[in-house]
Amino acid sequence: MQLASRVSTLELSVTLALDAKARELASAGRDIVNMSVGEPDFAAPKVAQDASVAKIRSGEVRYGPAAGQLPLRAALARELTETRSREFAPENVVVCHSAKHALSGALMATLEAGDEVLIPYPAWVSYVQLVRIAGAVPVGVLPVDGVRPNLEGLRRAITPRTRLILINSPNNPSGYVYEDGEIEAVLALAKEHGLWLLSDEIYRRLVFEGAPAASPATLDGDGHTIVVDGASKCFAMTGYRIGFAAGPKEVIGAIARLHSQMTGAPNAISQAGYQAAVEVGTPPEFEHMLAAFRERRAALLEGLERLGLETPEPRGAFYVFPDIGPYLDERGSVGFCEDLLEREGLAIVPGAAFGMDRHVRLSYATDLKNIHQALDRLGSFLQRG
Ligand code: PMP
Ligand code: GLU
Repeated sequence: MQLASRVSTLELSVTLALDAKARELASAGRDIVNMSVGEPDFAAPKVAQDASVAKIRSGEVRYGPAAGQLPLRAALARELTETRSREFAPENVVVCHSAKHALSGALMATLEAGDEVLIPYPAWVSYVQLVRIAGAVPVGVLPVDGVRPNLEGLRRAITPRTRLILINSPNNPSGYVYEDGEIEAVLALAKEHGLWLLSDEIYRRLVFEGAPAASPATLDGDGHTIVVDGASKCFAMTGYRIGFAAGPKEVIGAIARLHSQMTGAPNAISQAGYQAAVEVGTPPEFEHMLAAFRERRAALLEGLERLGLETPEPRGAFYVFPDIGPYLDERGSVGFCEDLLEREGLAIVPGAAFGMDRHVRLSYATDLKNIHQALDRLGSFLQRG
């Protein structure tokens, strides 16, 4: 029997697959340091945990509206209004099963078969696949000066089929945070050519120095921007699977209609937990997590410098993306990561998965002890060649 072309070449998410492999090796008794998946190693804020438990205990865990519970949509609209300095109403927000789900909903709601989507590289592993699942064509645009978005390259890549630009700041995998002028320029490009601008802001709160991450929604009065965000990274709620999309009410309504058919209402228990965290604004656990990430980032950057690896300065998120070009053979970053896992028991992600084969990604959502071990292992791997 034949599978649909949409899935016949579709691979398991590289990050999730690598994480599974590292865990499998560890449970088989291998000594593994796992810096593959981007998943905070902290508990969800206590308010969120309590609200979710209370929801279960209420005995009222029901379907609910496909767009999410109104009090959560209202809380998110208030948070968006405050943080993106632009008026959002509950109708501008659709709660989704995760940011991944919000991204796929936004792409399904805006793209026709054959449309082109511009994606500044490096880009998170799922973008290319999600665009293809929506029937459209991903067009990657390589960066300039390391990992800076290539604005001129984006402009040159526009064709009559271009329909959407997908940006991510702070960026996974590089940690790059767009400068205000870069956000303005990408939005201007979207407006000039009548394109959607899909802005994945899931790491928005995780900025370690300099100005906070800007959102194109702040400057966009004409309804080009769709923002995606969620609870996974900033509230360490990855397993709750909850997030949202926000933007013009026509597209938000369309995503809700899609989800009403495909998945139905988001998980009621997770919605209750998310609402409690959003209503607090910044739960105390967040500051603790940010401080830990800051310390780990410093240790990792210092260690990579000692190893002589050039690493673009990551201002946000919890990844570093060093250049391992001098150490590559014809198997590229995939072969590098396979050998590293095999010989040293260190799991990291090949840059090829993000569109940049000279690099590798290390997630520092893991403790300092692991980080120091990882640096030791990487050091001996590079030395042996
Ligand atoms: N966008 C980016 C850039 C990510 O790194 C992730 C991590 N999974 C997501 C979206 C999806 O997050 P979620 O857990 O909410 O699906
Ligand atoms: N976004 C995380 C990562 O890049 C989680 C894995 C995934 O959802 O693919 O590692």
